[in-house]
Amino acid sequence: MLVLGIESSCDETAAALVNDHREILGEVVLSQLDEHRPFGGVVPEIAARSHLTHLDRLVAEAMRRAGAGFADLDAVAATGGPGLIGGVMVGVMTGKAIALASGKPFLAINHLEGHALTARLTHDIAFPYLLLLASGGHCQLLAVEGVGQYTRLGTTIDDAAGEAFDKLAKMAALGYPGGPAVEAAAAGGDPARFTLPRPLKGKPGCDFSFSGLKNAARLLIESLPQPLSAQDQADVARAFQDAVADSMADRVRRGVREMKTRWPATRHLVVAGGVAANTALRQILVRIGAETGLEFLAPPLKLCTDNAAMIAWAGIERLRLGQCDDLSFAPRPRWPLDPNARKGAKA
Ligand code: ATP
Ligand code: MG
Ligand code: FE
Repeated sequence: MLVLGIESSCDETAAALVNDHREILGEVVLSQLDEHRPFGGVVPEIAARSHLTHLDRLVAEAMRRAGAGFADLDAVAATGGPGLIGGVMVGVMTGKAIALASGKPFLAINHLEGHALTARLTHDIAFPYLLLLASGGHCQLLAVEGVGQYTRLGTTIDDAAGEAFDKLAKMAALGYPGGPAVEAAAAGGDPARFTLPRPLKGKPGCDFSFSGLKNAARLLIESLPQPLSAQDQADVARAFQDAVADSMADRVRRGVREMKTRWPATRHLVVAGGVAANTALRQILVRIGAETGLEFLAPPLKLCTDNAAMIAWAGIERLRLGQCDDLSFAPRPRWPLDPNARKGAKA
């Protein structure tokens, strides 16, 4: 079984071929970071145009690397949402066109399902497992019960984790994207100099929050001599990273408890999303795994951030269950994985 995956929901244009033996046969990811950097964040219009310019060539390159033609495919899978709608439309139209022209089934994949199932591409694990998805657009704890079966245990009530790192970096003049810059600066920071609040720590539930912390960081930065010295930048970055990691650890511990109560067969704690690159967060997740008897799994970073292999793999998982989608599928800017999740919170 061979599936072509297409990803274009944010600022990565990607195409990949994956088979049902969990092999990634051809994989290309083009990051738009340089195009968005001057604006300090992703500009939706620039993103959509860039996907349109590059996607055809990337699909051809992924096919070439896999040594496959469209006739060899069993299906074409494209991210159908949630995401920036212009980019999603480009990917969905491309996927439909290839499916239609080659007479193959089309699958519209929920981008979050792609992240949620990646651990089954990289590791031989069974359902159910607990997933922490922490990226530029999302921060959620999900019970992954099966393909298409997800219960959202918690989500951010304001900013996503990566978004918080990006905003702090902007305020502290550390550059874009913020996560890696904050982590690098924090490495030289004094953990004892500043203390920032730990949002929601000790509170019931497993939701996340970062905006109060961001505000406290802003007030701290404004209280320091401008422009910040390199040491001030490092100390602020360290205080911020420690607060994020500590707050997230509290939420994840609660998530593990709820998961084990409701799904006692749970054996794994899995992480996905670009924030999974953060060493401080990873160390805490390893510790939580050890404390709770769950095995902590982190797919390689290139599969944690946005990529097309995870979309192709989600396509394989769905195809194996006999599922496919109609060519009338309309791209979805919002598409929560758990239809019963509380309304009003971020997808
Ligand atoms: P999505 O639509 O899935 O939310 P995205 O493109 O916004 O996608 P990713 O590509 O998964 O998200 O991850 C990018 C985010 O990860 C950025 O916000 C970035 O700052 C953050 N990030 C990357 N490296 C680190 C790090 N070392 N520490 C903290 N955050 C990081
Ligand atoms: Mg991205
Ligand atoms: Fe993503």
